[in-house]
Amino acid sequence: MTFSSVKSDSLELIGNTPIVLLQGPSEAAGCEIWGKCEFANPGASVKDRAALYIVRDAEARGALQPGGTIVEGTAGNTGIGIALVANALGYRTIIVMPETQSREKMDTLRALGAELVLVPAAPFSNPGHFVHTSRRLAEETEGAVWANQFDNTANRKAHIDGTAEEIWAQMDGRIDGFTCAAGTGGTIAGVGMGLKSHDENVLIALTDPHGAALYNYYAHGELKAEGSSVAEGIGQGRITANLEGAPIDTQFRISDEEGMHWVERLLQDEGLCLGLSSGINVAGAIELGRQLIADGREDPRVATILCDTGFRYLSSLYNADWLESKGLKPFPWLRD
Ligand code: PMP
Repeated sequence: MTFSSVKSDSLELIGNTPIVLLQGPSEAAGCEIWGKCEFANPGASVKDRAALYIVRDAEARGALQPGGTIVEGTAGNTGIGIALVANALGYRTIIVMPETQSREKMDTLRALGAELVLVPAAPFSNPGHFVHTSRRLAEETEGAVWANQFDNTANRKAHIDGTAEEIWAQMDGRIDGFTCAAGTGGTIAGVGMGLKSHDENVLIALTDPHGAALYNYYAHGELKAEGSSVAEGIGQGRITANLEGAPIDTQFRISDEEGMHWVERLLQDEGLCLGLSSGINVAGAIELGRQLIADGREDPRVATILCDTGFRYLSSLYNADWLESKGLKPFPWLRD
């Protein structure tokens, strides 16, 4: 693998992200907590990797022809990744998105030239759900492929080949645990599989937000959601194809308040402006570090994902009125 910073084309800018030792979280856990800087991808999120693999896979299968169209249902970040990759390769992009997602993601998608279709938020069982709408649209559009990030395992392959290999190399093979939340599950499954292929003693933990069903599934074998979360891009209610066979050893459930605590601390103390899924991941990583210490591992080292940039949430996570409307405490400096 090459870590050269000289790239011969723009798509090579995806992946090979830095990893950073997080000071406050390491202190809180009593061991090293490392954050993989996925906000450093060109589309500012972890989803650029999946977007590139999904598009390359569709080309390889012959499903995507020159000048074709890529259709996807997404909370936003995958759409941004697909739009960038599609622009670089000469494809058109249609993105179906629930209207509850952040303004910034919608504006970004429009700015990138994607055609945006907004649908009301609906449960997965509803035919109007953004995923089903995107599948139908792909079927109805000539020369279109459906990216299908939830059940297309090209998604997790991006993390087996890329994210996991990078973390393993960046941590010199000295890693005891990895955790992150799941949207499609591509990241947790792919990184988990990749790290286990090097060392099966790396403990893989799912960090679930409230309102998702996976915590109960991995803890008790029952897909059951409790509570709710305002975190975008995470919180899954079913076992997607990407999650099938994911090597999950243990699981944590993290509240929005805990996640926001770490969003605030990372911004104030370490100068990292992140989204809520990153804060939830970091809170989960601290739990995992403590568990590894309790299990008797000496000086364990834990890695997690810093999924996307906080600049994507200026009108929500970084807006006092919005936070209060969701029952969350605004950061003190937002009112000054
Ligand atoms: N955080 C954010 C902000 C996301 O957009 C996503 C993707 N939906 C995730 C985390 C979860 O990634 P994955 O789909 O690989 O589970």
